[in-house]
Amino acid sequence: MNGTCQSCGMPLAATGERGTEHDGTTSAYYCRYCYRDGAFAEPDATIEVMAARGGEMMSGMFEIPSERARGFVLQQLRPLLRWSGRLVPSCGSCGMPLERPDDAGTEADGTPSSRYCIHCYRGGAFVEPDLTREEMIEQYAPLLAAELGMPLERATAMVTAFTAALPRWR
Ligand SMILES: [Zn+2]
Ligand SMILES: [Zn+2]
Repeated sequence: MNGTCQSCGMPLAATGERGTEHDGTTSAYYCRYCYRDGAFAEPDATIEVMAARGGEMMSGMFEIPSERARGFVLQQLRPLLRWSGRLVPSCGSCGMPLERPDDAGTEADGTPSSRYCIHCYRGGAFVEPDLTREEMIEQYAPLLAAELGMPLERATAMVTAFTAALPRWR
């Protein structure tokens, strides 16, 4: 089952957060706010509408200027199944979507990885094998704070929540 809602990007940690199909079974792809009884709750919603709504929420929660928050959410939504029409795997170490063949890391035998990106994983091993989750947060939070124009302490909270959902750090 997929780890994030493929419509809004919300992490689907618990089964109760998943939407339902026509026959009452839980959805493999969508959350219960987006998808119920085999259909989207808002079938006419566009990615722009979803990004504006998500951006508003992010802006309030993490003190990001609203225009940047909206742009950031739009970028997060674009690879999701509902908007791209395909299931794009994301890196289990940094969360980057593996949209293009060049984005994929490599296994020991040189084949492309479906689990990790090229920045994190090459030749079947992590580029930084000793990196801890704390170090990853320390490295990434200032970059995110600068990119989104948010306070460092809010960026740290955001990266902490985000990395909790990634297989490498679980
Ligand atoms: Zn959703
Ligand atoms: Zn990565």
